[in-house]
Amino acid sequence: MKPFIVIAEDEASVSELLRYNLEAHGYETATATDGDEAMLLLDERTPDLMLLDWMLPKVSGIEICRRVRSRQETANLPIIMLTAKTEEADRIRGLETGADDYVTKPFSTNELVARVKAVLRRIRPALVDDMIEVGDIAIDRTTHSVTRQGANIHLGPTEFRLLEYFAQHPGRVFSREQLLDGVWGSDVYVEARTVDVHVGRLRKALMSHGGDNPIRTVRSAGYSLRES
Ligand code: CA
Repeated sequence: MKPFIVIAEDEASVSELLRYNLEAHGYETATATDGDEAMLLLDERTPDLMLLDWMLPKVSGIEICRRVRSRQETANLPIIMLTAKTEEADRIRGLETGADDYVTKPFSTNELVARVKAVLRRIRPALVDDMIEVGDIAIDRTTHSVTRQGANIHLGPTEFRLLEYFAQHPGRVFSREQLLDGVWGSDVYVEARTVDVHVGRLRKALMSHGGDNPIRTVRSAGYSLRES
């Protein structure tokens, strides 16, 4: 799954530059050109991070920040504020905006992409790091290889995606429907039973060189990957 970023910026050229560069770096994006639209996007789907222009029509960046922080679903949403001038940036720094980072325009896109990655890494390392480790399981996302206690584990593409998904939220219980949406995608028709089959294969592969069962079955709720 690609990390999902909402870009709230009214200057079309800046918004387009951000969208283009983030997508080129493997992020999924959605754009809003004013504050109302930004709030609508957040209602539809909570992003992994938000790039927020300070001077935004209708609802200002700072007001959006306040609203985002006051709502339970988005209270911890990482926000990088985009500001036009250094003086503005200085002002923002002096305020309790709740933003995680600030970038002053004009910015270099490389720097911005690096800041996005840094903020995501701090908050959700599994989202941006090439290597994910959960207990004795190590996942290399660049080579799509998996080891457990140092031994290579052979996984099919679906089992790999399933493991990657679990590993981004170790300990969290996912229902079959959530796994279908997250791993297969919501527009693909797959029976819930298929999830059981692939979880079964993944579990068997992970235990092929010994070790405990790392995937917990939670009766009538779903599955989760053990944290250690
Ligand atoms: Ca603006």
